[in-house]
Parts: sequence; C-alpha cells; structure tokens
Amino acid sequence: MAGEPQADCLFCKIVAGEVPATIVRETETTVAFRDINPQAPTHILVIPKVHYANARELATAEPAIAGDVLREAGELAAEEKVDTTGYRIVFNTGPGAGQTIFHAHAHLLGGCDLQRLV
Ligand code: 5GP
Ligand code: ZN
Repeated sequence: MAGEPQADCLFCKIVAGEVPATIVRETETTVAFRDINPQAPTHILVIPKVHYANARELATAEPAIAGDVLREAGELAAEEKVDTTGYRIVFNTGPGAGQTIFHAHAHLLGGCDLQRLV
C-alpha cells in the first residue's frame, strides 16, 4: 500500500531503528540524520517516515508531510547555524540526477562555500 514501509528500503529500516544512524531530530512524521558520506560540514538527510519513492510522489500523496520535511530542513539549518551563511536543500530525483535511495529525502547542505549549479 502507498506509504507503507518497504522491506528492501534502507531508509525505512532507519525509520524502524533496524539500521543505525546518527539521528539529529525526529518528529511524528520525519526523521533527520547525518549523511554517512558528507559532502559539506553540515550534511543532514531529512526523510518522511512514510515510504514514497521521491519528492514528487510524497508531495502528491502527503502534501502536509512534504511540508514537514521542508520545515524540518529549515529548522535544522538554523539549529546547525548555517542559516546565516546560506545553505541548500536538494531532492535528487531519478538515477540521472544521482538519486540512489528511492525513499524521498531532502539533503540539507551547508557550512562551506557551496558550488553554484543553478
Ligand atoms: P541520494 O543520492 O539518493 O540523493 O542520497 C542518498 C544519500 O544517502 C547519499 O548521500 C548517501 O551518502 C546516503 N547514505 C547511503 N547509505 C547510508 C546509510 O546507511 N546511512 C546514512 N546515514 N546515509 C546513507
Ligand atoms: Zn522507504
């Protein structure tokens, strides 16, 4: 069923506590944890607890939870004190864009000079 945990999904396993992660914050609907391979001094993944393959599917099925993910990313930027220097919130979507885990997630990147792509 849409949104249900997937047995073969790494991020569902992190939500369930079956795979360890450095969890920074958790809400009723989201979990935020440090990326295992950080690309910036602050590199946090914010994920919905429900399983959707990407940001578009999440936002279509659960717009309020998509909002929760965005709000958490912004609040974590402030908590990590990268809000004054600037930060980026990225949703890679599709293998061609570098998505490797097909459970919607926001990358929060900050704390250094971020390469300008767009
Ligand atoms: P994507 O490339 O799909 O946008 O992002 C997936 C991210 O998950 C990558 O930045 C990768 O480093 C991170 N990642 C992959 N496996 C793990 C893991 O087991 N634990 C954590 N904390 N991050 C992971
Ligand atoms: Zn999942």
